[in-house]
Amino acid sequence: MNRKGIIIVVSGFSGAGKGTIMKALTAKYDRYALSISATTRDPRPGEENGREYFFVSNEEFEQLIRDNGLIEHAGYVNHYYGTPRKFVEDKLAEGKDVILEIEIQGALQIKAQYPDAVLLFVMPPSAAELKKRLAGRGTETAEVISQRLNRAKEESVGIENYDYIVINDDLDKCVDKVHEIMDAAHNAPSRNLDFINTIRKELNEL
Ligand code: ADP
Ligand code: 5GP
Repeated sequence: MNRKGIIIVVSGFSGAGKGTIMKALTAKYDRYALSISATTRDPRPGEENGREYFFVSNEEFEQLIRDNGLIEHAGYVNHYYGTPRKFVEDKLAEGKDVILEIEIQGALQIKAQYPDAVLLFVMPPSAAELKKRLAGRGTETAEVISQRLNRAKEESVGIENYDYIVINDDLDKCVDKVHEIMDAAHNAPSRNLDFINTIRKELNEL
């Protein structure tokens, strides 16, 4: 069975629970590697440089772009966010499925460069629950929360570009659902051509 790594793009409205799901998924299964993005936004309380993000200045971010050090990047609510190239390439080569928790502009850049990537969109069970989670997280001001809810409206237009939606109602069920989708992805004929060709050859030799 083919175990080549697959890129998993995970998007979803801010507050839908992407970070929570990915933390639980990587804790439960060691097949996944979570990419750490670079960003120019400030760390939230409790966030550490090199753990949630690489927190960099505008100048450092622009240098990363010039050095071709990012496989994608985008602007989101007044800041830059981007995916460092080396980690993704190294982990795919090791056979890990690499999770990119990124927004839609980045997701589309990834699909164009890696058509084999699986694009997931995490949905809250309702808009009211999304607002409740964003406020409940307590990490943003009322103004930023309202910017993010407006951004959610814009992003909802792009959901059809994704391969699957996953609804984050019960966290454990949602984590298992993501894992099932990735299991199924590994079984696509296009990802198992070596195995298929081996069987074909064996059949010819019977
Ligand atoms: P995102 O990474 O998508 O912005 P977070 O993972 O930070 O979202 O989750 C936003 C808030 O919602 C957090 O306070 C988190 O604890 C909570 N949350 C996440 N998943 C669930 C869930 N299934 N049920 C209830 N609350 C959740
Ligand atoms: P936050 O500030 O809440 O951590 O993230 C804001 C948004 O930026 C989220 O939608 C998140 O998925 C997205 N994001 C985080 N890292 C990246 C990245 O490397 N590239 C892109 N395009 N988006 C990112």
